Amino acid sequence: MPDDFMDPADLLELADDAIILTDASGAITYWNRGAARMYGWEKKDALGQNVHALLRTEPPDPTQKLETIMGDSSHWEGDLHQSRRDGERILVASRWTTAGAGSPRLQINTDITARRRVEEALRESEERYRRFVTEDFTANLIVRPDGQIVTCNPAFANTFGFDSVEEALSGNFVALLRTRQDAVELLEMVRQQGIVDRHELEMLQRDGDPVYVVARVIGRFSNGELTELQVYLFNDTKRKRLEQQLVQAQKMEGLGTLAGGIAHDFNNILAIILGYTNRLESFRTKPKDVPGAIKVIKEAVERGAALVQQLLTSARQTEARFSSLDLNALVRELEKMLQATFPKMINFELHLQSDLPPITADRSQIHQVVLNLCVNARDAMQQGGTLTLETAMVPGPQLMETFTGVAAQNYACIRVRDTGSGMSREVKSHIFEPFFTTKERGKGTGLGLSVVYGVVNNHRGFVQVESEPNAGTTFLVYLPVEHSAAERGGEGGSRIPRGQTAPQTILLVEDEEMLRDLGVEILEGEGYRVIAAKDGMEAVEFFEANRDEIGLVICDLGLPRLGGREAFLKMKEMKPAVRVIVASGYLEPAIRSEMLKAGVLDTIQKPYDFNVLLAKIRSVIGPEEVADEHPELF
Ligand code: ADP
Ligand code: MG
Repeated sequence: MPDDFMDPADLLELADDAIILTDASGAITYWNRGAARMYGWEKKDALGQNVHALLRTEPPDPTQKLETIMGDSSHWEGDLHQSRRDGERILVASRWTTAGAGSPRLQINTDITARRRVEEALRESEERYRRFVTEDFTANLIVRPDGQIVTCNPAFANTFGFDSVEEALSGNFVALLRTRQDAVELLEMVRQQGIVDRHELEMLQRDGDPVYVVARVIGRFSNGELTELQVYLFNDTKRKRLEQQLVQAQKMEGLGTLAGGIAHDFNNILAIILGYTNRLESFRTKPKDVPGAIKVIKEAVERGAALVQQLLTSARQTEARFSSLDLNALVRELEKMLQATFPKMINFELHLQSDLPPITADRSQIHQVVLNLCVNARDAMQQGGTLTLETAMVPGPQLMETFTGVAAQNYACIRVRDTGSGMSREVKSHIFEPFFTTKERGKGTGLGLSVVYGVVNNHRGFVQVESEPNAGTTFLVYLPVEHSAAERGGEGGSRIPRGQTAPQTILLVEDEEMLRDLGVEILEGEGYRVIAAKDGMEAVEFFEANRDEIGLVICDLGLPRLGGREAFLKMKEMKPAVRVIVASGYLEPAIRSEMLKAGVLDTIQKPYDFNVLLAKIRSVIGPEEVADEHPELF
């Protein structure tokens, strides 16, 4: 049916909206079917009623007055609350039109109650998701393939060192990756797989500090083109750091075991050489040049022993002798010595905390630590510079962020700072490894810092290094201020009182045949009776059979069948007053102190000089030394 056949008034009746006409006083003069449907009032009931009274119309904004909202204007539109006949309140979008004050008014209303409810629900759900993202602790962002950040959450800003989300949005994601290559690879993976999951990445904070993340990256494509990447980054830095520390510690332990093994055999060989050297000394009928040869042999032996000592220290297997130590005094003394020997173009600066409490430590080992750090600093400042030595007290809890195993209340910190060459990240990751050096052949051994690591570890302390290429290096050594008494070692008992002698039979337990034979020969030469055992089992057997004659047991620690420690404990059980001297190439401080507490009289480090051993034997079982008793010594 063409439009012009229809009365326009009929069309108004058919409209979905409520169409209402009122006179100037508000009395209803027209009410279409849409109005009847919307409000439940039939036309006959509505006509003549005041429209606002009938519908109980109210603006949603309580400060607005219905009579005034239209004012002098000819048009108004807005949302209003109104009531249906059954009492239900509805929300309508309302448009008013009038020809002027005093003229009739047209009101067209659309019920938007349902639509508003949906909008509200949507807003609520959007708000929920917004909070979900902004309060997330993973760093989330949407980024364009060129690195431009479209949006990100506060955790992202925070993780990468931006002050605010706004600031982060002005940054570029590619700049936070370690290399451009990382960015290229990541994009390639996303293009090919769509989603990259659990991808481990080393990223950089804005200031360049590393951040280790586990990433999930989802590509958004439009017509096959990658347009955006949705990125979720879990900050895994703390765990990664601890893991790296653990790997480092294990590596050092492994090398320590290796060094210990080599050292054991090496020491036995040295002991043999040294022993025969001493025997040669007693040969009166030697040709003239023998003393010279002896000297060379001895020097070689000492050099070898010193090398072993370095190795063992680096593997923290030498005996540490703990005592009270004034760090400031040590640093001051060292500085004086270094100033006299280092090139003049190196300036020294000292900043010592005046009230630093004494620590319990091995003086010569700590001396070695600071010396090694200073020598490295000197080597790094070929063109001169400033070497700063500082001491300070640091509360233990402050170190917990950086290190595991922080046990002491307070740590004394020694800082060795240089203005030299600094190190690359690659070099920095290897410096504590034994034999790692960047110096030319003959200049560096690569043992300096592994000794530092070993010693500090042995003192239950920590080492930290801060360095950038061309920006100098700072080493920080933290040593606990308290130290448990157990580590200082106890004292053995039952030495023979002056003027008395014990039974002069010695049980010598040694698995190295040549060393054992040599020992028997020398000890018998000194007038002792010697029983020799080649392992722990034999030692226990022989001791049981001769327990009353045996005045002293000299026992190696690393023995076949039954270890020296176990053998000692068995003998101790049989005869609590047993006198034992333990000989060993390396003795962990903890084991040494445990053995001394258990009643071992003394320990002697291999390779031993038999003269030192004889002195120890005399001090334990006599006979007492008489001056000039050894005329055969040169
Ligand atoms: P060495 O000094 O014999 O090379 P170290 O264990 O003492 O062995 O040091 C290992 C390496 O660590 C050095 O070769 C050097 O590359 C680096 N290094 C140590 N200390 C510094 C420093 N203060 N500045 C720059 N590099 C250093
Ligand atoms: Mg060095």
